[in-house]
Amino acid sequence: MLIIYPPVAKPSEPPAGLAKLAGALNYHHIRHQILDANLEALYHRINSPGDSSDRWTRRATAHLASNLATLLNGETFTNLDCYKRTVMDLNRVVQTARPQFDGTVTLVNYIDHRFSPVQSADLILAAENPEQNPFFEYFSSRLDGLLQERQPSLIGFSLNYLSQALCGFAMAGYIRKKAPGLKIILGGGLVTSWLSAPGWRNPFSGLIDELISGPGEYFLLSTQGLKPIEERNYRPDYKVFSDLRYLSPGFILPYSASSGCYWNRCAFCPEFAEGNRYRPIPPHKVIGDLEALIPETNPVLVHLLDNALSPALLRQLCRHPIPAPWYGFTRFIEELTDLDFCLALKDSGCRMLKLGLESGDQTVLDSMGKGINLDKASVALQNLKKAGVATYVYVLFGTPAEDHFRAGQTLDFIALHHRAIGFLNLAIFNLPVYSPDSRNMETEDFYEGDLSLYRQFRHPLGWQRKKVRQFLDRELKRHPAIAPILRLNPPFFTSNHAPFFC
Ligand code: SF4
Repeated sequence: MLIIYPPVAKPSEPPAGLAKLAGALNYHHIRHQILDANLEALYHRINSPGDSSDRWTRRATAHLASNLATLLNGETFTNLDCYKRTVMDLNRVVQTARPQFDGTVTLVNYIDHRFSPVQSADLILAAENPEQNPFFEYFSSRLDGLLQERQPSLIGFSLNYLSQALCGFAMAGYIRKKAPGLKIILGGGLVTSWLSAPGWRNPFSGLIDELISGPGEYFLLSTQGLKPIEERNYRPDYKVFSDLRYLSPGFILPYSASSGCYWNRCAFCPEFAEGNRYRPIPPHKVIGDLEALIPETNPVLVHLLDNALSPALLRQLCRHPIPAPWYGFTRFIEELTDLDFCLALKDSGCRMLKLGLESGDQTVLDSMGKGINLDKASVALQNLKKAGVATYVYVLFGTPAEDHFRAGQTLDFIALHHRAIGFLNLAIFNLPVYSPDSRNMETEDFYEGDLSLYRQFRHPLGWQRKKVRQFLDRELKRHPAIAPILRLNPPFFTSNHAPFFC
């Protein structure tokens, strides 16, 4: 079988889901091939320079080799301005590469004005017209070679981001034409979200044979006549990725210690709205996996991918430090109010924690079930600062209980804690289609497409997106204590590269 990770997703580290599949398939000695088409397509585009009539493109193209080298050997990470110029130049090469079309490809995204990834009819059109895809030249010859050499009986696509959907369907459509009898399946986080919609009806029959919800390894094993044990946690296998040139200063080892979320109560969260089950790997097994994977892959950084690292796992990491720096997402848990715990985290190799603060207003936090006490969040931020653990704080504006005043409270909280906040992510609220809030609000139908995971809504307090944007642009981003934090954000790669600046 052949498993493909289609373009476009961040090319800074290997796809963890595919490593998990490889681990399960290798464990059972099942012949397969894994293809990170995202990374290959990026390099193909980088090596297909387009029209360079303007100075910036000429400079970016002339410095392409040295920019890539300094990104991969880490040199450019010693100076943020230098890093920003390198990444912006690389992106310029990707954007201006051949072919040009009605849309844009960046280092981390693909937008096509002809087709929408949230319209099933457009995805089908993309599959029927693969030659219109900007990566066609790359994937047609790559797939031809693989179909001939490997003669797979099944092809799977792992779709995790919307930016992968159109390319995934274009590749699937190409295969369908070339090898009509071949079984094609789709899985990954995006497909899992589609399938969790109540009343879901598959619009892709005839093109896609199976759509898989949740971890794909159990389905793949069942196609081989094996009776998979659903709770079995296969150790991921990164061998196939270890020599690939991801855009990072060394190998980043991604690892999921759980799927779903142990908290699972935040009203705005798709995990909650989709009712995804929390499936943790026991903490001792996580440490065992990492202790085996680190010597094999020699990572410069471990990326723990969980939606929220559980307190039990954090405690286990403190007791059994792993031999590589790591970072991940966690909640403002009680433990972080204990300075000794934060120091132990630092000693365990924790370089950065991503923290979902969402709001600096207690009423807003309580209304969305976030489970954060602002006084404790304040102590946690200061403890992490003292311990030397960097923080990447996520804030969400425009939630149903927020208004201008309460957004101002968030601004004040950030400004007050600016010395303890390393990086900031600002987002505007999207209403998940099936969140409990959507039942009590005036909503419009699927405004973008039948596969849209979000709904447009009338804000109950009149705090509409336009006003939120104005607040962010005119007040928050210009605040003298906040603007310098925002300038530290690594362009395109954001939190994936932030730990290299800590
Ligand atoms: S803690 Fe994070 S992942 Fe968990 S429910 Fe809240 S927002 Fe979602």
